[in-house]
Amino acid sequence: MNWAETTEQLAFREEVRGFVRRHFPTDYPPDPLAEHSLEPEDVWGYDWPADRTSADPVRRAAARRWATALAERGWIAPHWPVEYGGAGLSAMSELILREELMRAGVPTVNGIGALLLGPTLIEHGTEQQRAAHLPGIARGETTWAQGFSEPGAGSDLAGLSTTAVRDATGSAFLVNGQKVWTSSAQHADWLFVLVRTDRAAPRHKGLSFLLVDARSQGITIRPIRDMRGAEPFAEIYFDDVRVPATNLVGAENRGWYVAMSALAFERAGIGATVKFERAVHDLIGYLRSPRGAGFRRADTAVPRHELAQRYIELRVQHNLARLAACREDAGGVPEYEASISQLRGAELHQRLARTATSLFGPYAQLWQREGAPMAAEFTHMRFDAIAATLLGGTTEIQRRVIATRGLGLPKS
Ligand SMILES: Cc1cc2nc3c(=O)[nH]c(=O)nc-3n(C[C@H](O)[C@H](O)[C@H](O)COP(=O)(O)OP(=O)(O)OC[C@H]3O[C@@H](n4cnc5c(N)ncnc54)[C@H](O)[C@@H]3O)c2cc1C
Repeated sequence: MNWAETTEQLAFREEVRGFVRRHFPTDYPPDPLAEHSLEPEDVWGYDWPADRTSADPVRRAAARRWATALAERGWIAPHWPVEYGGAGLSAMSELILREELMRAGVPTVNGIGALLLGPTLIEHGTEQQRAAHLPGIARGETTWAQGFSEPGAGSDLAGLSTTAVRDATGSAFLVNGQKVWTSSAQHADWLFVLVRTDRAAPRHKGLSFLLVDARSQGITIRPIRDMRGAEPFAEIYFDDVRVPATNLVGAENRGWYVAMSALAFERAGIGATVKFERAVHDLIGYLRSPRGAGFRRADTAVPRHELAQRYIELRVQHNLARLAACREDAGGVPEYEASISQLRGAELHQRLARTATSLFGPYAQLWQREGAPMAAEFTHMRFDAIAATLLGGTTEIQRRVIATRGLGLPKS
């Protein structure tokens, strides 16, 4: 592959920068007290699904205006075909778009709906399902959450036990069970869930993929508070929830294959390197500033070496994202490449937080932002980074994918 960007790619970068300057609402500033979002795609200070329904009318209106501006370009779902409300961009252009949004520090919109559900419906949905759901996602009007994990089934997804049974008429399913760790479920309009529809069949042959209106009777969504005091996810209880059979995606009992293709679309961390690059630059800028001078242990060899090491890792990560995008544009499907990217990205996130907090010594224990070095930025990051090696599949599972599909090693 060619590592240098073409004239068109550089021009597209410039176009995105100009678009942000012109269209990002000035009354939609980052919230300085917000915790880091845990999803790799999200930028600090914003939680678009929550902002969109915020109690603050100014923030709510600004979040919606931003979504409308992006939607007019097809940039909420840039990689979808134009006929479905996307922009039909190549994987490389999508990467550039996401990098520039992140570099500008502005939020992307509708991540789960645009990245996971949309492509799944385009591949497996009925024409009626596509017509019902894709426009709302592409316009930023409806948000989605992914209900796969359960208290007894995370890595071992085929072990899930939420059931869906056809009612007497056969025209609807009755869903019962519990999901957990569902990102942004408390802000979602719709859920896509994997449920057990045949208990007698082998584990992964008795599952189905359903679209569920989050406001259906019988659904209880409870936010889960994490150790930072933030509520990035929720648990969901289903008590005889009635779901029309027309909301079944793909064939009944073949939901495993639909879910696997949804997970393959989870392009974890596309453009996320920029988030960490910004963090490293901010850190170096702070250490060079008068306020940061007291922490210039960075002038000694060990921390300098560590910081340089993080920077090298960032560049490698950056190139991995490019390699995956090129492969996709050449018609390939990145699968183990996505695992390599996710694994390295998650570990880099944790190492970066450790390197930075070690520079602040005992001050890194300050949780209160006021008066703390760098407003305790990296102390907060150190806590949020813990989830990085779990979400979207744990590092052990990523290593298995790399070993079996990438290196061709036998399954253990
Ligand atoms: C911030 C965050 C957001 C999330 N968002 C969502 C979401 O939106 N929707 C959703 O459905 N889920 C979500 N999850 C859940 C996530 O997908 C699961 O936590 C993850 O798949 C791990 O499952 P588990 O928690 O059941 O752990 P387990 O699968 O029980 O794993 C426990 C430990 O055992 C290891 N392990 C398990 N199996 C193997 C194996 N075969 N070989 C080697 N080691 C193994 C794991 O790697 C891990 O270290 C989220 C999680 C987090 C932290």
